[in-house]
Amino acid sequence: MSKVLIIGAGGVGNVVTRKCASVPEVFSDIMLASRTVEKCDKIAAGIGGDRVRTAKVDADNVDELVALIEKFKPEMVINVALPYQDLTIMEACLKTKTHYLDTANYEPMDEAKFEYKWQWAYHDRYKEAGITAVLGCGFDPGVTGVFTAYAAKHYFDEIHYLDIVDCNAGDHGKYFATNFNPEINIREITQKGKYWENGKWIETRPLGIQKPIEYPGIGKKESYLLYHEELESLVKHFPTLKRARFWMTFGERYITALNVLQEVGLTSIKPVNFKGTDIVPLEFLKAVLPDPSSLGQGYKGQTSIGCQVRGVKDGKRRTYYVWNNCDHEEAFRDANAQAVSYTTGVPAMIGAMMMLAGKWKGAGVFNVEQFDPDPFMEKLPKYGLPWHEQVDKPLPVEK
Ligand code: NDP
Repeated sequence: MSKVLIIGAGGVGNVVTRKCASVPEVFSDIMLASRTVEKCDKIAAGIGGDRVRTAKVDADNVDELVALIEKFKPEMVINVALPYQDLTIMEACLKTKTHYLDTANYEPMDEAKFEYKWQWAYHDRYKEAGITAVLGCGFDPGVTGVFTAYAAKHYFDEIHYLDIVDCNAGDHGKYFATNFNPEINIREITQKGKYWENGKWIETRPLGIQKPIEYPGIGKKESYLLYHEELESLVKHFPTLKRARFWMTFGERYITALNVLQEVGLTSIKPVNFKGTDIVPLEFLKAVLPDPSSLGQGYKGQTSIGCQVRGVKDGKRRTYYVWNNCDHEEAFRDANAQAVSYTTGVPAMIGAMMMLAGKWKGAGVFNVEQFDPDPFMEKLPKYGLPWHEQVDKPLPVEK
């Protein structure tokens, strides 16, 4: 029986709140707080039954966060606002000795660069305070780290090659839309690509490496090598990795539209003066693009995200592939959300459950792969994300 404070009432916030509300034996008391309280109220009303209290909070303001935490007194905070708010929310949790969990790592607003160093720097202070922070507990990062830990624990003596493959084969019927916050999404994919090989990072042109990869139940989809945040923590926590890469599918129309937007300067984060006011082109673009949380209705098709691993067991070469497919329409039926919000929100709820049940514990700042993957893997199918595995079969990424 625990009190939990959820911060952020977007696509992911909606799913986490609904999922926590459906498990009253763990999350007995829930507060959803965000910048626009009306969005919290709408989610709470959709759940009904006075299960969820709401509040307005500016998560960029540590004092406001501390005041809210001191008033509500939650055991933990689930941060599903934006990566810009990670450090202020971590700071408020530290000041109030409250456990913390998020789904995306910090990046400064004025530089499109995400790195764990800012959040890892809290480790000693969290340890001293005797509280836990779990970083990156969505799907990727999140389940992909748990999948990797599960592979390493049960199938390998050493893992050597890791390919994380992320396919969204859904169709939302819009000409161009992003599946999570447009600003964060576009900042991520317009960066240079990067992967780990033989002890160092190799940089590539943005979306400069591509190949068709076969996804279970979906077929072949053009996939692009991206830098993704879990690569940083996974190569640290699995030092036997000789190579670690991340692939994501994009349709031709998406890439064409993105190229045009980039060429005309609309993805830039440098302010421009417009009629006497400084505006950030990417923030303006976000304002005119569809809200990701509105894409659920009528979204058809599936996502497929998994880890393809090669390494050795008992002196023999072994391959392992573990994945989840999530159907957009089923996600909408279950949580009024499209599959990208769903596959992020469900693991955040399960991670919180692991912390509150004492299955994932420790004082300090941790990434998900540092904990026992088994209890988390056991809960995934129960809460809507069944997973499948294949051992010693050719890996699709290597074909
Ligand atoms: P949305 O933009 O839909 O929602 C973000 C929410 O945070 C909004 O309700 C917004 O308020 C609120 N917010 C923003 N700034 C503040 C602030 N200063 N104070 C209080 N609230 C604030 O994003 P998503 O729901 O799509 O994504 C949420 C998070 O999940 C992001 O960090 C994203 O990167 C992460 N994510 C992780 C994935 C994973 O697999 N690990 C995959 C997808 C997303 P307002 O409504 O007023 O704008």
